[in-house]
Amino acid sequence: MYRTGPVTLRANARFSTICLHAGQDPDPATGAIITPIYQTSTYVQEALGRHKGFEYGRTQNPTRLALERNIAAIERGQAAFAFASGMAAIGAVATLLQSGDHVVVSDNTYGGTFRLFEKVLRRYQLSFSYVDTANLDEVDRACTERTRMLFVETPTNPMCGLTDLQAASALARRRDVRLVVDNTFASPYVQRPLELGADLVVHSTTKYLNGHSDSIGGVVVAIRPDDIEWLRFVQNAEGAILGPFDAWLVLRGTKTLAIRMAQHNANGLALAQYLSRHPKVRRVYYPGLPSHPQHELASRQMRGFGGMLSFDMGSLGAAETMLNHVRLCALAESLGGVETLISHPATMTHASVPAARRAALGITDGLVRISAGIEDIDDLKDDLAQALDQVR
Ligand SMILES: *Cc1c(COP(=O)(O)O)cnc(C)c1O
Repeated sequence: MYRTGPVTLRANARFSTICLHAGQDPDPATGAIITPIYQTSTYVQEALGRHKGFEYGRTQNPTRLALERNIAAIERGQAAFAFASGMAAIGAVATLLQSGDHVVVSDNTYGGTFRLFEKVLRRYQLSFSYVDTANLDEVDRACTERTRMLFVETPTNPMCGLTDLQAASALARRRDVRLVVDNTFASPYVQRPLELGADLVVHSTTKYLNGHSDSIGGVVVAIRPDDIEWLRFVQNAEGAILGPFDAWLVLRGTKTLAIRMAQHNANGLALAQYLSRHPKVRRVYYPGLPSHPQHELASRQMRGFGGMLSFDMGSLGAAETMLNHVRLCALAESLGGVETLISHPATMTHASVPAARRAALGITDGLVRISAGIEDIDDLKDDLAQALDQVR
C-alpha cells in the first residue's frame, strides 16, 4: 500500500528539504512520487460548471502549478508564476507599470533586460534610468515622482558588482516604489531577496534553478496580494506560459539545487583564488575574494559567493588565445548549468552594448567570464592552466 496523501512539510523545514518536496504531492491517481508531465490542453468537466479546478491548459496545468508552488516556497514568497523564458517573466513584471512610469535599473543589467526596456517598453511611454545600484545615493537621486520600480541585479553580469538588498528595500519603501530583484545570478540558495525586503523576485530558470542546460524558462515570485492577483491575470491574459515538460525539467532541477549550489560556490571560489594568483591574469572579479570592494557585504548578504566570476587577461589577444585553448570548459553563452562554461563578454553576451558603455562598466576586450560547473576542481584548474600556458 502506498500513502497518497501529501508530504507534510513543517513550517520550519530547511532549505534543501523545501527544494525537494515543496509543491509536490504524490500523484493522487497512482501514488507516483514524481509529479507527472500533464501534457494536456484541456480537462473534461464532470457536469456543467463542475470541474477539478483545471479548465484549460494556458490557465492551469498541474505540472506547472507544482513548480510554481515549489519555487514560491524556495524563494519564501506567497506565489510564483512560471513563464516561457526569463525575458517573458521580466515582461510580465513590466506590466505592473503604466504609461508615464519611470524605473531605476542596475546599470550593468542583463543585456536582454536592457533591450526589452530600451527597444520595446520605451515605445509605451515608460522611461528607465540606469545607475550603479551599489551606490544607493545615486539611486535616490535618480528617483522622480514618476518612479514606480527599482529593478536590481546582484551580483551583476559580468563584473560581479553587488547591491545591498536590505538598504535598497529600505530606500524603496521610503520612496514607495517596488523593489524587483533578478536573482538569476545568485540563485535562492545564495540569497533570498524577499527575506531582505524585496517585493518581487524574477529568475531565468534556464540558469541555476533548472541547472542542466536543457530548458528555457522564467519565473516571478510575489508576496503582495495585489501583485499576485495581477500576475495571475497577466500570465493567462498574455499567455507566455511555461510548458508542462519544461516545468517538469525545472522541478527535477530544483530537487538538487542545494547540493549543486554548494559545489558551484566551492568551485567558483577555488577558481577565483587560483586565477588571482596566476601571473598571466591581471585582475579577478569575484565577491568571495577579499580584494573585491564589497567583500564584506557579500559575506553578509550571500551564502557562499556563487559560481560566476570574471577575470581580465589584459588584451583581446591574450583572452582569445586562452579561450581557444580550453578543452574541458565549454566556450558558450549562458550560465548556471552543471558544466563549466567560459565566455568573452565583449564579443558574446555584451556585443550589443556600445563600446563606450562597455568601457564605463569595466567590460574590457580582455575580460573573460566563467560559470563554474560542478566538475572536479583539479580538472578545471588543469584545463585553465594549460590554456593560460599558451598565452605569451
Ligand atoms: C539569462 C538571463 C535572463 C533572461 O532569461 P532567458 O531565460 O534567457 O529569457 C534574465 N536575467 C538574467 C540575469 C539572466 O542571466
